[in-house]
Amino acid sequence: MKKILLILSVICASAVAAQAKLNVVATLADFGSIAKEIGGDKVDVTVMAKPTEDPHFVDARPSFVVQLRTADVLIDGGAELEIGWLPPLLQNARNPKIEVGKPGRVQASQGIRLMNVPANVTRAAGDVHALGNPHFMVDPIIAKTVAQHIAQSYSAIDAANAASYDANYKKFEATINAKLQEWGAALLPFKGQNVVAYHDSWPYFAHRFGVNIDIFLEPKPGIPPSPSHLVEVIAQMKAKNVKVIIVEPYHDRKIAEKAASATGAKVIDFSQFPGGIPGTESYVKLIDALVSRLTAAMK
Ligand SMILES: [Zn+2]
Repeated sequence: MKKILLILSVICASAVAAQAKLNVVATLADFGSIAKEIGGDKVDVTVMAKPTEDPHFVDARPSFVVQLRTADVLIDGGAELEIGWLPPLLQNARNPKIEVGKPGRVQASQGIRLMNVPANVTRAAGDVHALGNPHFMVDPIIAKTVAQHIAQSYSAIDAANAASYDANYKKFEATINAKLQEWGAALLPFKGQNVVAYHDSWPYFAHRFGVNIDIFLEPKPGIPPSPSHLVEVIAQMKAKNVKVIIVEPYHDRKIAEKAASATGAKVIDFSQFPGGIPGTESYVKLIDALVSRLTAAMK
């Protein structure tokens, strides 16, 4: 028996040594993109949702539970972003390493000041932003904070590679800082312009770059547009001379086109997630694409 235990412990020890890479799971592609940038070749990153899926309503696949069960690190949005699909999967996975409060759990919303926090929390009407707006990653300054949390989590679990994670974070930070100048300059001529969005996914982006994105085709986040609401939106669009309507891959583009044809506005495809629209495989490329699509449409 002792011999068997000894052999087992040798096998276990070598398994730990061979498993050099951290097994990282990200709920969504924006967290996944940054998780890869910070981890480099020291991590394997799995993203659960497709970049073209609605982050509030992701189809849970059986493979998700297996991914969560074997994760060293889980990165999710928090602020109830994934409340409709993640909690039961976590319950089934039973992985203590990724419980809230453990170094293996990065809830991106930790330490982020959420916008549009309602005075009274109510989900009764089906509002999916009951704790405040959870779509903060499209603000590049917030993305830097989340990247730093990810680097801290990796370093806590894998101290041997802490210097590498820190260096990758500093590189990401420097890239964002340089890009912010460029993005800000491109959008400056459109300061104060009004843009309509299908869903309230863009308050942080709008706030960062000085445009107004506070008219929505959805009457409430997560509630499909109704004909009476559309009449109201079209009237507001005419009054505010709105030229652009933003839709995401999982929205009903035809409804946006109806409002566009009634007002002479253009519909443009946007995504919160790297890979959700063509040519956006990294976080920085995504923001590049959003800025160039928006400026082209507002001209
Ligand atoms: Zn939302």
